Order: sequence, then C-alpha cells, then structure tokens
Amino acid sequence: MNKQLETLIKMQEIDDIIGHKYVLKNDLPNKLSELISDVDICEAELSKISIELDNNVKKQKDKELDVKNQKDSIRKYEQQLDGIKNNKEYKALNSQISTLKDKIFNFESELIAVMDEETALKERKKQAEESLKSAKKALSENEDILKKEIIKVEDDIVELKGNRNSIAHEIPMSLVKKYAQLIKNKNRKAVVFLNGNSCGGCGFHIRPQLLIEIKQNDNVNYCENCGRIIAPNVDN
Ligand SMILES: [Zn+2]
Repeated sequence: MNKQLETLIKMQEIDDIIGHKYVLKNDLPNKLSELISDVDICEAELSKISIELDNNVKKQKDKELDVKNQKDSIRKYEQQLDGIKNNKEYKALNSQISTLKDKIFNFESELIAVMDEETALKERKKQAEESLKSAKKALSENEDILKKEIIKVEDDIVELKGNRNSIAHEIPMSLVKKYAQLIKNKNRKAVVFLNGNSCGGCGFHIRPQLLIEIKQNDNVNYCENCGRIIAPNVDN
C-alpha cells in the first residue's frame, strides 16, 4: 500500500469518528434545552390554572353576594306584607317576592356550577404540580450529566484532531491542504474506496486506465467527478 495513501486513510478514519462526535455534540445541548423547555411549559400551565382558580373564587363570591342581596330584599318585602291592607297591593308584593325566589334559585344553580368548576380546576392544578415536579426532577438529574457529556465530547474532538494532525506530518503539506478542503467541502469524506469499478463517494464510473492506476497504488489518485481521493478496495 502506498505510504501516503495509508496515512490519508488513517486520517479519514479519525475524521469519521470526529464526525460522529460533532453529531453528538449538537444533539446534547438540544436534549438539555428540551428539558428546560419542559419545565417552562409546566410552569406556564400551572400559572394559567392558578389564574383560572382566582377568577373562579371571585365568581363564587359574586354569586353568593347576589343570593344574599335577593334574600335581604325578600325579608324587607315580607316585613312590608304585614302592614298591607289592600288585597291588590298584597298580591303584587307577593308576586315580587316569588320572582325574587326564582332569581335566588337561578343564582344558586349557577353557584353550584361554578363550585363544580372549582373542583375540576383543583384537580387540574394537582396534576400540573405533579408534572412540574417531575420535569424539574428530570432537569436536575440530567443537567449535570449532559453538561459533563458536552465537555467530554468537546475534549474528545480536540484530542482526535490532535491525533489526526500529528499523523498529517507524515505527508506533504500540499496533500494535507487538499485533504482538508475535501473534508470541508465533500461532506466530511475525503478518502473513499473503490466500489467495484465506481467511486465509493459519488458512484462515478471510473475510466479503465485510472482504474488500473488506482489498483497499482503507486500514487494518490482522485475521482474525476467528485475529486475525492480513491483508495483501492482491500480485496484488490
Ligand atoms: Zn467520486
């Protein structure tokens, strides 16, 4: 095997690992921000329910006051009844009292509905509190682990790059530059293997003469389509 190509293959192997580490590195902060956003969502839900509960309590007080006012009015009318001699006036006042009693009945029905709403809201609040508790727990349990993993991955990448760069000293600077350009521009794949008679990177069918040269392996050869370095398949 051509010495330079051997070095390039080793560099590519390290860059493949670096590529995986980059994917991991991008993924870890996402996981962390998902956990943080879970807590935010739970807190927002809880505060929304608390406001609804406050409004509910206020509504109950209003209804209770309505009932009380109607009852006061009835008491007043009933006292007036005693002093009335005229039959017509007596009837009229009695009918007013009856109307007020109907109103009280309606207010009380409404009050019961509002109280049922309160029970449901309290249940929802309990559930929201439990969700918030578990979201906070998940965050606190994983925050440190994820932060440490992020640092570890970053350290790994630095170390791998160091290894790759020290191997790179074995080949000419111009070749290192070419390799680096390919890593940058060709989806982190600078060195590929022959795939049958085609480039393992882009699938381009290789010219017979070039195919022979690749298999002879005296020089570093490039795909005439994608420009990647092509190494002979290990089976050849
Ligand atoms: Zn190619």
